[in-house]
Amino acid sequence: RKGNVIVTGASSGLGLATAKALAETGRWNVIMACRDFLKAEKAAKSAGMAKENYQVMHLDLASLDSVRQFVRNFRQSGLPLDVLVCNAAVYFPTAKEPTYTADGFEMSVGVNHLGHFLLARELLEDLKASDYPSRRLIIVGSITGNTNTLAGNIPPKANLGDLRGLAGGLNGLGGSTMIDGGEFDGAKAYKDSKVCNMLTMQEFHRRFHEETGVTFASLYPGCIATTGLFREHVALFRLLFPPFQKYITKGFVSEEEAGKRLAQVVIDPSLTKSGVYWSWNNNSASFENQLSEEASDPEKAQRLWQLSEKLVGLA
Ligand code: NDP
Repeated sequence: RKGNVIVTGASSGLGLATAKALAETGRWNVIMACRDFLKAEKAAKSAGMAKENYQVMHLDLASLDSVRQFVRNFRQSGLPLDVLVCNAAVYFPTAKEPTYTADGFEMSVGVNHLGHFLLARELLEDLKASDYPSRRLIIVGSITGNTNTLAGNIPPKANLGDLRGLAGGLNGLGGSTMIDGGEFDGAKAYKDSKVCNMLTMQEFHRRFHEETGVTFASLYPGCIATTGLFREHVALFRLLFPPFQKYITKGFVSEEEAGKRLAQVVIDPSLTKSGVYWSWNNNSASFENQLSEEASDPEKAQRLWQLSEKLVGLA
């Protein structure tokens, strides 16, 4: 049978390029989990994806109810789940004020981490039940959360501190909208959320890999300077960022190339090792990369797991 893969945020950028790469193999049915149904349908059509290789299901990660409803809808479809890709993200580098999810969490961490945390926890049951030879749960990470890299050292740096803001509910009601309890900073909130993504992947691996056989992985696909992620940035930045990445840092990758990389983490028989953060060198060869101290701290991962469980209603 065909494999079934859910890709969140498959309506643009990396998610769309990955959906396209998987659909083109003819061996995968891609469930595009998107907040804007029509946009996703249009995107799939204009990417030339054949109807029999994908379907769109509504998912708004900014609402825990929507996440739960998505899980119910997916189960009703009767499809087995073989791979889950948590890819969607928002980024508000110039925001002066925080915005909030339906449940009142600061938006970047609410969507990028908490929404995905609930989704992945719920769907682990479905991955367990699948008879597919290689079942995988992939959470897209980033270099920007890794303070052991040049890019990760551009201020404001990621830092979860002692997670007091998260413990306080991350809603600004009497506490802070930032995980570390500090003042709101949109760029930092994004980086923090990516650290959460990488910590969560490793905690999944520690808790469930042996018992379930599921492969847990994260990756940095390269700098895809052209995606919608930078839509909130100032115009000058949007103009200069792609050539800067192309010619100065040489970290630039096209959406198509990045999509192929993520698709590799979904299907490549040589990338089945669990607990790994994949990266690619300039010749597009994959390697196991090192995470920064904070992004690989097992105690922080455990605390993050417990606090996140409380916030999404799992504990
Ligand atoms: P895009 O903005 O192009 O794509 C983000 C996707 O997430 C869109 O499809 C968007 O939907 C979706 N999304 C946003 N909010 C929600 C929500 N509430 N519910 C459901 N879906 C939502 O960005 P990229 O493709 O660049 O980003 C994809 C991933 O790659 C992210 O995890 C990002 O952190 C990571 N990444 C990106 C890098 C880059 O250089 N661009 C570098 C490293 C990592 P819609 O189409 O409706 O807006």
